[in-house]
Amino acid sequence: MKEFAYERPTDVRDALIAADGGARYLGGGTNLVDLMKEGVEAPTRLVDVRRLPLAGVSEAPDGGLVIGATTTNSDLAAHPEVRRRYPALSQAVLAGASGQLRNMATVGGNLLQRTRCAYFTAQVCNKRVPGTGCPAIAGEHHNHAILGWTRSCVATHPSDMAVAMLAFDAVVRYVTLDGPGEIPLAEFYPPVGDTPHRETALPPGALITAVALPGRAVSPRSRYRKVRERASYAFATVSIAAGLDLDEGSVRIALGGVASRPWRARTAEAFLLDAPLTPEAFRAAADAELAAAEPLPGNGYKVRLAGNLIETVLKELQP
Ligand code: SF4
Repeated sequence: MKEFAYERPTDVRDALIAADGGARYLGGGTNLVDLMKEGVEAPTRLVDVRRLPLAGVSEAPDGGLVIGATTTNSDLAAHPEVRRRYPALSQAVLAGASGQLRNMATVGGNLLQRTRCAYFTAQVCNKRVPGTGCPAIAGEHHNHAILGWTRSCVATHPSDMAVAMLAFDAVVRYVTLDGPGEIPLAEFYPPVGDTPHRETALPPGALITAVALPGRAVSPRSRYRKVRERASYAFATVSIAAGLDLDEGSVRIALGGVASRPWRARTAEAFLLDAPLTPEAFRAAADAELAAAEPLPGNGYKVRLAGNLIETVLKELQP
């Protein structure tokens, strides 16, 4: 590991000034520190954000919740109002990592974690250095993307939390030295295109301050389900966050483990707006969504798995 400067400001503006010029913000360090040890990341300055006043979950005027960026994953998952209004979010967080890691990891850091594509940490590739190729496409890709990928990169996004937040129309709040801003989570992760190294829409130097969950997305009848290669402490093979609003007859569906970013299943949602909420319609909606899938030779099983998850979880959510 290369030497780096380390600062622990207690004021947001001090943090922005300390980070100006290309430093990295450090939350729980559960991904960044690993990447530094492996030589993937080599920041010259770390700005530790854990002393900033950004932790906690608060009420929003619209009936939603605002989650501070340095709230730990454990505190988020255990918060009674998160569990009551957005249960799929609590379940998603608890499905990720281990108890020890959740005690350290922060909400802002979770959104910024990087792919666990094995090639990414083992060697230079398009995501690390543009133009250096993607060995996964012709190599080991059984756990890679089936939707929205390009020849530049076929990696998946690793966050469980972000999948549930996407289903609930979350908005990411941030601040720069020019002032505050916000980005809907649906636009936070750009399509992979030919720039897989550009992983978020955050402006340079931006510090995530919070994630807002809107009141209109409150969904007590929601669930997160994750399929993985072992019972715990593994990233999603395929996951789903789904919510059913029986009054409106509408559904919310987001998938994980299938694309470079959490994948909102808009086609399936639109299909079910015009259909009775029956098992047959759930299957047809899943098929409609996955008609766009482009599996590689080694990961076609994910198409069937994602379809089964959509159908199964929606059936479970019915009264
Ligand atoms: Fe790199 Fe993406 Fe290819 Fe993995 S899938 S090797 S991260 S370019």
